[in-house]
Amino acid sequence: MAKFAFKGGVHIPNPYPVEKPEIRQVPPPKQAVLLLQQRVGGEAEPCVEIGDRVLTGQVIAQTTGKLPTNVHASISGIISAIEMRPIPHPSGIDAKCIVIDSDGKDEWIKIEKCDKEFLNCTPDQVLQRIREAGIVGMGGAGFPTHAKITNAQGAHTLIVNATECEPGIMCDDSLMQEYPREIIRGIEVLMHACSAKKAIIAIEDDKPEALNSLLMYNFNDRISIEQIPTKYTSGAEKLLIKSLLDIEIPSGGYASEHGVLCQNVGTVKAIYDAVVDNKPLISRVVTVTGSGVETPRNYEARLGTSFAQVVESSKPSNQAHHIRMGGMMMGVDIPNTHYSICKITNCIFVNNPKPKPVVKECIRCSACVGVCPVNLLPQQLYWHAKSENIEKALDYQLMDCIECGSCNYVCPSNIPLAQYFSFAKALDRKLKRAEALANQSRGRFEFKEFRLARNKQERAEMMAAKKKALKEKMAKDKEKDQAQKDKIAQAMARVEQAKEAKK
Ligand code: SF4
Ligand code: SF4
Repeated sequence: MAKFAFKGGVHIPNPYPVEKPEIRQVPPPKQAVLLLQQRVGGEAEPCVEIGDRVLTGQVIAQTTGKLPTNVHASISGIISAIEMRPIPHPSGIDAKCIVIDSDGKDEWIKIEKCDKEFLNCTPDQVLQRIREAGIVGMGGAGFPTHAKITNAQGAHTLIVNATECEPGIMCDDSLMQEYPREIIRGIEVLMHACSAKKAIIAIEDDKPEALNSLLMYNFNDRISIEQIPTKYTSGAEKLLIKSLLDIEIPSGGYASEHGVLCQNVGTVKAIYDAVVDNKPLISRVVTVTGSGVETPRNYEARLGTSFAQVVESSKPSNQAHHIRMGGMMMGVDIPNTHYSICKITNCIFVNNPKPKPVVKECIRCSACVGVCPVNLLPQQLYWHAKSENIEKALDYQLMDCIECGSCNYVCPSNIPLAQYFSFAKALDRKLKRAEALANQSRGRFEFKEFRLARNKQERAEMMAAKKKALKEKMAKDKEKDQAQKDKIAQAMARVEQAKEAKK
């Protein structure tokens, strides 16, 4: 097996490579719609009101709790609404957003660059800056970066994931070609923050320009750059760790428990901006691609910019399109371009409509088994997921499925296997929630029964004690009466005796 190769996965050529690698700047939008709910963690609480004037980079919403993520104004202007808006999510749900109408000035808050070398800051101070900047995993996971680094304190290795997570996405490639110095410096910041002794940049072997850019700026012998085969799902965290370090992260386990911290290359650039330039996360690089645009390209757009504004720059064809946020394998289909760029929008696919493939019966060819990168048996999983036999699906490691869609891609019957697995997981969560609720109700009922029985017993014991005390009192009174009677009888006997003696 070739160096750093892994079993499974599929070779999928990029169907729409970009003509030029450079990142085009999208002008700040006239209106920014900023999402308060990130993929992980609670919804941020607005700290501004309708009518307030805000400056670019100003904190406009904050979360508390374990997974905090600040939201910053991406343009200067007036808060015109705080309301529910549709967000790019498979469920089609709405979520709370803050809307800023631009004043056209793009006036920033006062930014002070890092006045001292970041190595003079403590890791805690660096972490604080990352937290304040509102950085989340830019590869699409959206996990708050501050929390991920905190969990990996004392890691021996930092892995920088420089693979594009899916075919068609090119934003990380262009970032590495345009900002190699910042990325290398960002890695040093990150190593300082988690105390890692070494860092490995994992880059796919179809990105020679990006590799050369990084090599030109890497003078740190604790940072190595490794080329890995260009194969879909090579960027999956556990696979990357297994290929590079030969460390197997067990089912349900985390990289941090094995001394490894993984960060996407875009996140590393955002960390550089936050710690060295003291700039919060207010923009990101997005790939616009697909059969429906004339010029697939990478753009840097302010968060909250509409998809329509970014897509327009790539000259979309003059017809209805299928729009998808994310890559061609794991992206989310959305009905139109009236959505806004959020922190995890790495790609917008704009495709000309084509007929959906006809789904046929499974012919038991096992093609899906050969490509599963996590060694599952998709065919068996499919039967159990389809019949909603969740117990059985769990026996076949349903929860280890990373929903990569490699099995869908090779299935000659066009069965949407990954969607079945996603549905089965959702059903499992629902059943577990229902079971937890039932247990809760049962617990409440049992406690009520116990309480009633306990009260009854306590009352019975109290009555018995009272009865006993009364009986004892009556016996004592009887004894007392008898003693009194005896005393009187004795006195009378003594009087009789005295009378007898006088006679
Ligand atoms: S979607 Fe799940 S079962 Fe299918 S190849 Fe990916 S990990 Fe394996
Ligand atoms: S690839 Fe499709 S047809 Fe072949 S075994 Fe898997 S599910 Fe069945």
